[in-house]
Amino acid sequence: MSSTILEKLAWLEDRIETACRRASRARSGVQLMAVSKQHPVESIREAAAAGVTCFGENRVQEWERKSAELAKLSLDVHLIGHLQSNKAAKAAEIFTAVDSVDSVRLAERLSETAHKLGRTLPILLEVKLSPEESKTGLDPLHLAETIERVAALPALHIRGLMTVPPWSEDPESARPCFARLRQLRDDLLRDHPQLDLSQLSMGMSGDFAVAIEEGSTCIRIGTALFGARVPRGTPSS
Ligand SMILES: *Cc1c(COP(=O)(O)O)cnc(C)c1O
Repeated sequence: MSSTILEKLAWLEDRIETACRRASRARSGVQLMAVSKQHPVESIREAAAAGVTCFGENRVQEWERKSAELAKLSLDVHLIGHLQSNKAAKAAEIFTAVDSVDSVRLAERLSETAHKLGRTLPILLEVKLSPEESKTGLDPLHLAETIERVAALPALHIRGLMTVPPWSEDPESARPCFARLRQLRDDLLRDHPQLDLSQLSMGMSGDFAVAIEEGSTCIRIGTALFGARVPRGTPSS
């Protein structure tokens, strides 16, 4: 029998604490985001009941459908997947935050809708540090210019950076990527000390301990908490 979400959380918590200790960091400086994409609402309920407060989803329509069934729980749900500009309005409406902003155009659309809704939307800028074609994000070379333009938008609050390293079985291979994201953040802060870039969203099920050692403030955990994802197109519930 597979272990419950509560048991997996305890296992994760143990490893998060160990990584924090190794890096001389406070446990409170690392948030656990439960990535519930492609998992049913029952799994989200179970995680919420176990004390998880922050969730990540990667598709607007999927969260729109699931959130209708979870309206009674007030959850902190971030969009962590690539967002097309034409879905920005809906995203700004249904997510607490968008952690995958990768263009000025998208940021403008999000700001427009957030402004209409009378809210300030917290965002992260996603940086592409992987050569893989399938990965999205801003070219690090354009980061400084982009952040200046996005910071000028009225209804967004930039809180930091996010990245997804190239896929690998070896967590150590992600370390240079995580170190690079932190370095990019430090460089930006030197030139723009007025910005809030306190958040570094990096680390997933296979490499979160390394990410914590390199300064992650938010680890995005799917598989290690919910098990393998049901492939898209397969009815789940
Ligand atoms: C799916 C996903 C995750 C979670 O990955 P796991 O390896 O299952 O923990 C984290 N971040 C992003 C952006 C994702 O799309």
